[in-house]
Amino acid sequence: MVLDGLVGALGATAIAAVVLLGPETIEVGEDTAAALVGLVYTVADMVRLALFVAAGAVLGLRREVTLVLLMAGVASALVGDLVYSRLAALGIYVEGGVLDLTWLLHAALVAQAAHRSRPARGDGHAGGHSGVRTGWRHIAIPLGLNVAGIAVLMAHTAATAPIAAWCAAGCISATLVRSIVSFRELRHFHAVRAEARTDELTGLPNRRALLGHAGTVVAAATTRRPVGLLLLDLDGFKEVNDGLGHAAGDELLRQIGPRLAAELGPVDMLARLGGDEFAVLVPDADVDRAHELARRLHARLREPFTVEGQRLHVGASIGVATAPVPAAGVQELLRCADVAMYAAKAAQEGVRVYLPDPRGGGGDRLRTMEELRTALETGQLLVHLQPQVRLSDGTVAGVEALVRWQHPSRGLLGPAEILPAAEQAGLMQPLTDVVLGLALEAATRWWTERSVPVSVNLSAASVTDLELPTTVIRRLEDHGLPPEALTLELVEDTLMADPDRGRTVLGELRRLGVRTSIDDYGTGYSSLAYLRHLPADELKLDRSLTADVGRDQRATAIAGHTVALVHALGMTLVAEGVEDDETAAVLAALGCDVAQGWAVARPMPVEQLLGWLADRPAPSSGVPVVPAPRLPGQPVPR
Ligand code: C2E
Ligand code: MG
Ligand code: MG
Repeated sequence: MVLDGLVGALGATAIAAVVLLGPETIEVGEDTAAALVGLVYTVADMVRLALFVAAGAVLGLRREVTLVLLMAGVASALVGDLVYSRLAALGIYVEGGVLDLTWLLHAALVAQAAHRSRPARGDGHAGGHSGVRTGWRHIAIPLGLNVAGIAVLMAHTAATAPIAAWCAAGCISATLVRSIVSFRELRHFHAVRAEARTDELTGLPNRRALLGHAGTVVAAATTRRPVGLLLLDLDGFKEVNDGLGHAAGDELLRQIGPRLAAELGPVDMLARLGGDEFAVLVPDADVDRAHELARRLHARLREPFTVEGQRLHVGASIGVATAPVPAAGVQELLRCADVAMYAAKAAQEGVRVYLPDPRGGGGDRLRTMEELRTALETGQLLVHLQPQVRLSDGTVAGVEALVRWQHPSRGLLGPAEILPAAEQAGLMQPLTDVVLGLALEAATRWWTERSVPVSVNLSAASVTDLELPTTVIRRLEDHGLPPEALTLELVEDTLMADPDRGRTVLGELRRLGVRTSIDDYGTGYSSLAYLRHLPADELKLDRSLTADVGRDQRATAIAGHTVALVHALGMTLVAEGVEDDETAAVLAALGCDVAQGWAVARPMPVEQLLGWLADRPAPSSGVPVVPAPRLPGQPVPR
């Protein structure tokens, strides 16, 4: 701004000096004093004019009436003073002549300027100095004066006042400095802009860069030349982060870009959206090409990585969508790719192409998240209950509460659709609260006749919540139930985030009398060290390990040894996913305590379970629910 002002002032002075001053201007005549005063006035007017031009250069050329009035006023005075000094020097000035009008005009114009610049009704400068200095208007004055400066130097003659040449040279020099400053500002601006569009960790373009670029590309896309978007989410990244530390996770993320770059064309843009989510924008790609690229990238990501000297297998889920069909804009394109990616992850399919939902966009994760919020508040959630029976005598050992969602348009939804949306929307804790309430309410309906505990599944967030024991006990008291009426199930992986805290919470729950259970044992990071330190009463062997018991020797061996292990640790073993009676029989022969699965009963609504319970043998009757134990290798009696 200072330089712009300087350019304006020097340029204006140069021109004024050329126009108004000659080398012989100062002619000392009879009235020296009058001539000198005239000269001082003239010079002062020129300084003022230069200042206003400088202000114009700073503010940019605009219809700034105040400034124009001021300039016109000063110009009028300048003419008056100049002519006066000539006349005075010659001694022929006559007071009260036409010349005096220039000063009157000056005063009138300045007064008018002052009047106009008054803030209108208190809203500041009505003209609105927006402060944004952009466009050609802004450089018009410095530019024009610069050209004038060059002209002054070129047309320099002996008749030109020396000051005009000096000012012109100064004006041009200031412009040069101004150019250097502008250049540096521009370079800095580009650096900042690039930084704001680059992901710090990987050096790839970030979400902002992708969205910016996608905006242009999608706008230009046509059905003949569509644009594809691939959304990649690493599988098992959290485990790498938790297991090997964040430095290893970062290292892994840094390797993604270079590895995928080999598969990408020069116009394809790979960006990191955050976390372990990446995106590839593929201009000029139809569904088939985008799909094909996604498969290649997927294959690339399945190759092992070497992080901190360790070989790692991660893999990814990739969602593919295209614009302008089915996605009309960038946001929709992202959303479609997101839905496809999510479906790929849920189905463990690797790559999925977005297909518009024939039910009217129902399977849409974002919408599901929003609807779930409402569902939690309006009581659309319910639980189905699945019994667990003792293999020794067929008595009911417990009942597991499994969440369901009676969706207004999509029907009854299960955990596979509810839980991921709840997790994404950060609704796991409210969901656990609601399920706990529903489960306890159901338990009150049978507890007095049959002391069968109800099991509730905990999420990772609940397990590390230090308030959980207190809350749970209060909820039990609210329902008039003792602590032993509740079993809390958790999968080992939920403890990975903060094992110490989880252990504290579980230990406290057990101390208060609530039973704890390790769910899906054998699927996650099952570690014997956990078993050693985890305060739990019960272990649930996952369906993947119980399904083939009796048919597969190794599965049988694992189940058999788990029984021994669990019993040695003083816990109860529950076999999950027992689908047929043969499996139940083998498990019973192996010494497994409890079975849960379709062989016993499918999960059912509360009313139905009450009926089922009433039909069950009372604990004392001793009628086995499953056929007599049969050891593996024995022929199946038919
Ligand atoms: P889980 O806790 O291991 O629950 C058992 C799951 O296995 C249930 O699926 C059940 O319907 C299914 N199942 C039972 N018997 C059999 C069988 O014989 N064969 C087969 N193939 N499956 C059987 P569901 O209801 O879909 O629940 C899936 C998972 O969702 C649950 O696994 C649990 O981890 C989670 N979940 C369910 N309700 C809740 C909840 O309220 N909160 C939380 N945090 N998780 C829940
Ligand atoms: Mg469970
Ligand atoms: Mg389970």
